[in-house]
Amino acid sequence: MSAPRIYRTEAVVLRHTRFGEADRLLTLFTPHLGKLRVLAKGILRPTSHMAGHLELFSRSVLLLARTRTFDIVTQAQGEESFVAVRGELEKASGALYAAELLDRLSEEHAESYQSYQLLLTFLRWLSGAEAADLPLRYFEMALLEITGYRPELHMCLRCKQPLEPVLNAFSGAAGGALCPQCALADPAARPLSVNALKVLRLLQRGRLPDIQRLRLEAPLARELEQHLRHYLPHVTERELRSTAFVDAVRSSQPTQSSQRVSG
Ligand SMILES: [Zn+2]
Repeated sequence: MSAPRIYRTEAVVLRHTRFGEADRLLTLFTPHLGKLRVLAKGILRPTSHMAGHLELFSRSVLLLARTRTFDIVTQAQGEESFVAVRGELEKASGALYAAELLDRLSEEHAESYQSYQLLLTFLRWLSGAEAADLPLRYFEMALLEITGYRPELHMCLRCKQPLEPVLNAFSGAAGGALCPQCALADPAARPLSVNALKVLRLLQRGRLPDIQRLRLEAPLARELEQHLRHYLPHVTERELRSTAFVDAVRSSQPTQSSQRVSG
């Protein structure tokens, strides 16, 4: 038998599941190898030197050994731990959701350097953010852009007329905005406020300094979340499991109000 080939990559841990007694299967996202599913042997033993470097969402540099099934992590050096993301329930649930979305929209071994950069930008912003909403909406819209599922936000998808600054509609099934007249013919279309349309367009332009200046009031934050929640399953082809967790965390913190007035 020939010796296993060793390779090196940077990676962020998107997901981990227990595998046997002391091992974990990791879903990694890497800058140049795309999504990988690998095995971290013995990581659940108290003596494991790798455990601290392979926590959920942490960024590490890894050495991996190629095998016929799952490649095996042989060394891990932590680079960024994102402790703040794991340490707060709202941020952790948001990061789990983002990781599930990226997992769902990525093929194994398909390089997407842009998606990797987006993931890091998102985790860094989320670490220091007061609330998870805006980093999440930014992540969703940017990932839709990268993966080719950009929703239409400038003209009505049905009559092709430019949208007026009035109460339009958003149709997840149609993949974007509808004018008020055309919305009548789409039972799945939901009211799209002028402010929500503005924020979605700003998110779609993707200029982070402009986006980070936004302050969303809670009703607008909820409206934006709902539009994406109705659109994303049409892209991922099924509901994301972690949305239930995001909702549960929110309802367990009814008085929390880290959203601020717009301006
Ligand atoms: Zn129309």
